[in-house]
Amino acid sequence: MATVSLVDVHKSFNKGGNTIDAVDGLSVDIADGEFFVILGPSGAGKTTTLKSVAGLVDIDAGSIHIGGNDVTLVEPYNRNVAMAFESYALYPQKTVAENLASPLKSGRTGRYTEAERAERIDQVTSTLGINHLQKRFPRELSNGQRQRVALGRVLVRPADVYLLDEPLSHLDAKLRASMRAELKQLGAMSNTTTIYVTHDYQEALALGDRIAVMRDGRLVQIGRPEEIWHQPADTFVAKALGQPEINLLDGVVDSGRIRLGDGTFDVPVPPSTPCQRGDRVRVGLRPCDIQADIQADVAPSADGSAPRGCVVLAERLGRNVELTVDIGGTQLIVLTAGRGGAGEGAEVALTVADTDVHLFEIGDGATPRLGTSGHEPVLEAAQ
Ligand code: ATP
Repeated sequence: MATVSLVDVHKSFNKGGNTIDAVDGLSVDIADGEFFVILGPSGAGKTTTLKSVAGLVDIDAGSIHIGGNDVTLVEPYNRNVAMAFESYALYPQKTVAENLASPLKSGRTGRYTEAERAERIDQVTSTLGINHLQKRFPRELSNGQRQRVALGRVLVRPADVYLLDEPLSHLDAKLRASMRAELKQLGAMSNTTTIYVTHDYQEALALGDRIAVMRDGRLVQIGRPEEIWHQPADTFVAKALGQPEINLLDGVVDSGRIRLGDGTFDVPVPPSTPCQRGDRVRVGLRPCDIQADIQADVAPSADGSAPRGCVVLAERLGRNVELTVDIGGTQLIVLTAGRGGAGEGAEVALTVADTDVHLFEIGDGATPRLGTSGHEPVLEAAQ
């Protein structure tokens, strides 16, 4: 077990004559035993960060510390970290059990007896659901099974730090969801500091003790899953979490409400937000936070300002239905729970709780959040 600290780490590459800052001044302290997730789109610098900790890339500036020791110049083998890559490498001529046993036979792990090895392999293969495949060769496995064996090769070996790079990416959605739960259990069991890279926000929310969101080699936000979900630091983070993506609309603050689009739709100003009448803002509304009631069921609001719209598209997504609702020319995506919901052509009234309204500065691209929302997080909202 060990803490991991990155101090102002820089790494750039030369790509076709251009310098790419893959990691650009990254500083982070990861606690002993923490499950730390790095979330970001392709090219954000996630893998380079992981490889820097493993010692597989030489950083240009900054330092890396494991268990309080500066390991910046220490060879990968002596860092006692175990890394699983997205692209899995297995010995083709060895069975699954033999592939898993080999990390337990070398170097500082060579002290295991045959029985202890078998026990560790059994524990890991059971968790990963590949116990029954122990006698098979890699060529006799599916891609998803091979990826789980590769992950098993990492987890079977005791290490100070596990570095996992998109380890579930080759699994189908159902298996991924069940593996997520199992992995968390395994992590808790072994209590080993883990840095886990993903571009899947659900994986990040489900697994992370904390999440670091990266973009263009930089850290955009770091926090507990509920902080990242409920108080995204900017519109980039807000968009990175949630499927369908958060709705972002331009609005104008007007006594306690924010008028959106042509003014037919308004939402409450969230608590503790520093804004004044006349301010122009960007409003973020998550599709799952908007309630759409068929108009006949809803009494008109006292001031007649209840936002009403027309469903122009209704798409079923498993248990939920994704509605595209047109309100005075502005289109909003709304996620409603399954049965009895509004269909295409239905008139709906939309409501949003003030604590579910996210406000950002006006502008293009990633703009920062205004204020904070003070409510207790409900993580299920992310599912
Ligand atoms: P992905 O999710 O696609 O794996 P990532 O967030 O892990 O992306 P990195 O692989 O760390 O991103 O890459 C960050 C940037 O550095 C990218 O622009 C990438 O093209 C570049 N890069 C990474 N490794 C090298 C290399 N060996 N040579 C040149 N450029 C590289």
